[in-house]
Formats: sequence, structure tokens, C-alpha cells
Amino acid sequence: MSTFLGLIEEIPGISVDRFDGENLKSSAYFLSHCHTDHMKGLNYAFFEHLRQHKKYLYCTPISKVFLEAKYDNSETCVKDIEIKKKFEIEYKSVGDDEKTVLYVTCIPAGHCPGSVMFLFEKMEKLILYTGDFRINPRDYEKLSPLHHIDFNNSYPKKFAKMYLDTTFLDRDFAYFPTRRDSMNVMYKVVKEWLDKSSRNVVILECSATYGSEYLYRELSKFFNLPIHVMDYVYESYCRIGDLEHHITNNPFATRIHACMGKLDVLNLNGLKCRTDILEKEILIVVPSVMKWKGRDTSVVGEWDCTRNRTFNVCYSTHASCHELEEFIRYFKPEDIYPCVCPEDAKYRVFYLLREIKNKIKKERGDAV
Ligand SMILES: [Zn+2]
Ligand SMILES: [Zn+2]
Repeated sequence: MSTFLGLIEEIPGISVDRFDGENLKSSAYFLSHCHTDHMKGLNYAFFEHLRQHKKYLYCTPISKVFLEAKYDNSETCVKDIEIKKKFEIEYKSVGDDEKTVLYVTCIPAGHCPGSVMFLFEKMEKLILYTGDFRINPRDYEKLSPLHHIDFNNSYPKKFAKMYLDTTFLDRDFAYFPTRRDSMNVMYKVVKEWLDKSSRNVVILECSATYGSEYLYRELSKFFNLPIHVMDYVYESYCRIGDLEHHITNNPFATRIHACMGKLDVLNLNGLKCRTDILEKEILIVVPSVMKWKGRDTSVVGEWDCTRNRTFNVCYSTHASCHELEEFIRYFKPEDIYPCVCPEDAKYRVFYLLREIKNKIKKERGDAV
């Protein structure tokens, strides 16, 4: 859960992923992706505020679609920016009447549809705001806007500061299987269950309403079945090209359901959308990371020991502790601001950041 308050110290006058309180004084707004912890303060009153003051919210085309599904008439103050292309944006520094220019590039963050990192360039200074992200370390080199090209070589850019998704900056979440590995385990279990009887169905118990879109799409492709989702989720997903063919609002059109909240599942006596299905015909698959806290994640999935016909799979849309360390090692930012840092985790997060920085410094020293 993001604890970032929205203001970028180095660029006063803009706000990212937070739209209330002090942020109302900003003159340009950025939304990295459409998860509620990054949308605090986004409401009709906020969009009215933008309209009145002729200010804009910038996001990706996919996030814009999500916003338009949720807020009527928001399109007049939301501007979408293309991925991987440098944009010039005018804004006003707080207390300054003159407009000034900021360069922004969106870089895919691998977290959910439309999720991006923002690379801000201001007076030769580069600031990277990662938003929520998960990128395989092997793919860092492919993030071209984050590299300089010098003759035929490419070098990671130097950031004055990196605002980092520190959700799993915790040695208890050291390694995660790749999403591909998690999916392979899920395919196997789901396939076995569906093959066993033509009456069998599967429930995906995802911890949040949004965030499992990649999983839905991949499962749907593999089984050639759409995923049944709640009506209001369907309303926004069906506007996204990448997802529309992989979801349905018709419970009879599929054998895979992600249409129930967590609480419904705990009181499970069957499938709410299909009273003809018996409890014994349901397999519950739980993609989760929390169940693997402090445990061996090379075990990608296992049967739950307390709930019947329930299979837990280690699946993450945020970088693991090891991946975060690799990201820091690769870019070596001058400064890091942890964007997920609740009060009770402060000591751990800052301790680990210091430890990682010292380790990298030492490695550099040793290499010289
Ligand atoms: Zn998120
Ligand atoms: Zn359903």
C-alpha cells in the first residue's frame, strides 16, 4: 500500500498518485496506475477543481479508459501520454506565476494494465518515480528511455532520486517465482480439476478487486475460456483491448470465476453466480504472496492445509526484495525515497536501503 504523499521534493508544483490536501496547490498531476491506494483524492470534486483551474491529470491511455469508466466527464481534464515517448508539460512551481517546462516519459512498469513509471527531467536532473512495478532484472536493458546511448553502447541513466515501490523490501520476501512460473503451476492444477469432471469449476480468490488482470488474461488464453468477473469490474475491463475478450459478465459462459470477493469465499456454500454448481465441484485457487512470508518460494504452489480443495500459488505483481536490490544495483540512484513505508516498517525499510547501498558501494570499491 502506497504511503507516498504525492509531492516530488525536487519538482515543487506537481503531484503524483495523490490528489488531496497540499496536492491541490499543484498545477500538474500524474497517475501511475489505477489502484485505489494511488488514487486518494480522485473524485468528482477533484475533477471539478481541475476544470476550474485549467489543470490536467496525465496518465496512460489505458488508465484514462479506467478513469472514464469510473468518472463521467473526466475526459476533459485527463490527458493521456504515450508510452516511451518524451513529453513536454507546462506547469507552475508553487508560488510562481510563470509557467515552466517539465519533460516526462512513461515507462511500462509491469504491474497491471496501463501501469507506468514516470521519468521526470527538470534542469538536467533526472527523477524516477517507479509507481508499483515488477520487471524481470533480465529486462532492465530493454527499458530504453532509462538508458543513454553512447556510440553503440547503452548505459543506465543516473537518477538524482528514485521514488521506489518498496512493498516487498523485506528479507522475508527475498525471492518470488517469475509470473510465468506461477502461471505454469496454476495451469496444471486448474487443468487437472477441469478435466476431472465437466461439472467442475474454478474460483480465483484474488485479494484485491484490481491487480490480477495479467493472470486473468493468461488463464483465459490458456484454457480458451473467458473469466467471469463482477459487473463493475467488467464495465471497465471491457473497454480495454487487451482484456475485453478474456472476461465475461455471463456466469454460464465459463468455468473460471473471479466474480466473488474474499469474504464471499470464506462463507462459501457454492458459487453465488451459479446456484447449480455444488460446493464439491469447486476448486479455489488463491494467488498470493503473503502466505509465503519468510518461506521457501521455490515451492511455487501447494494445497492449503486448513481449507478443502484450495490451492495457494505464490504470485506477485510487485518486485521481490532481491529484485529491488538488483534494480538499485543496476541504476545506482544517488538517493532513494521509499514509497511504501508504513510507520511499523520504517526501521526495516531504511535499514535495508542503507545495507543495500553500502553493499553496492563496497562492490564498486572492490571492482576498482
Ligand atoms: Zn498497484
Ligand atoms: Zn461467477
